[in-house]
Amino acid sequence: MKQVYLDYQSAKPVDPRVVEGMKPYFSEKYGNPSALHSIGDEGTEALEESRKTIARFINADEDEIIFTSGATEAINLGIIGYALKNQKKGNHIIISEIEHISIHNIAKHLERSGFEISKVPVDQFGRVNLRKLEQRITDKTILISVGYASNEIGTIQPIREIGKLAEEKGVAFHSDAVAAEGLLPIDVKRDGIHLMALSSNDIYGPKGVGVLYMRKKFRVNPLIIGGGQEQGLRSGSEDVPGIVGMSLAAELMQKEMPKEVKRFTSYRDRMIRQILEEIPDSHLNGHPTERLASNTHVRFDGIEGESILLSFKDRGIAISTGSACTSKTLEPSHTLIATGLLHEEAHGSLQITTGRFNTDQDIDSVLEFVPEIVTRLRELSPIYKSN
Ligand code: PMP
Repeated sequence: MKQVYLDYQSAKPVDPRVVEGMKPYFSEKYGNPSALHSIGDEGTEALEESRKTIARFINADEDEIIFTSGATEAINLGIIGYALKNQKKGNHIIISEIEHISIHNIAKHLERSGFEISKVPVDQFGRVNLRKLEQRITDKTILISVGYASNEIGTIQPIREIGKLAEEKGVAFHSDAVAAEGLLPIDVKRDGIHLMALSSNDIYGPKGVGVLYMRKKFRVNPLIIGGGQEQGLRSGSEDVPGIVGMSLAAELMQKEMPKEVKRFTSYRDRMIRQILEEIPDSHLNGHPTERLASNTHVRFDGIEGESILLSFKDRGIAISTGSACTSKTLEPSHTLIATGLLHEEAHGSLQITTGRFNTDQDIDSVLEFVPEIVTRLRELSPIYKSN
């Protein structure tokens, strides 16, 4: 059976052009950038060229790019590192209710170490309420963390407004940009972001590589101590092949993004329109317009997203019910609950995310199966209202 992959938010294949570009750095140009001989120089050159490319991708300066082992580490370094560096100034941090699970868990960790955490609510579409954000800022607040866009429902946050508010209040602004990178043009200067996490895989680079963007004057304390690589902020030999892969992925993304976003938008709009028109008691989750081009997130009254997912799996189609990072828990998505959905509504949700290698036929196959799957599951459902 032909497999159709529509879960690009949880993982992306590495672009074959990226794989080709990484190859020499495994066993030909293998030098350690910290070594001073010419083999080491090759590593240094690749590392610093990659740093420049990533900096260009987000309109940063190259000395503001810290390579890490992925977005989780970048987020840890950005938030915990900044909190530790600035704890004399204040101990209060604000995050949004729909942050990625890693940020919620970091917040819990910091709370146990004496920091105070406030959570700013979102509206029914998942947008952060700016007035409530402003109300939560006190003279103890040192950091605000709001993700650029939701990895679950695809809602895009009013990032520039948050950046402006943070600037006015003299508070640092951290943003997890993993869901947005490659789908929105990110410009840290225009957006007023001081600390930002990126992951390589989300732009079709290898997993296990990421970046913390750290604006000058927004320094962090290191969390990994050792030989002093990455300005002493992230010790350990850099993963040169992975970093080269991430920079090649960024270069390709910069060229292809406008065309891709147009294509994904047409997939998304077709899916949302057709599903909502054809299936009674179906609803869109997230924002109707301020949403990532790749994200279709819908719910169906009276059935479990999990059962729909399994029915699609039987037909060779991979979709999701939400974040892969929390899929092993039975809890409903904290993001959907924060938008005001009831537990059973959150459980009836389905997430379809498209990417570089999807075709019109992939969308056709989802749309072909949705009505039949939903109808069959509803016939079996003890909770669907018309049964
Ligand atoms: N933030 C968001 C929004 C994510 O979706 C993910 C997972 N891809 C992460 C952070 C963690 O990224 P990584 O797996 O690279 O550590």
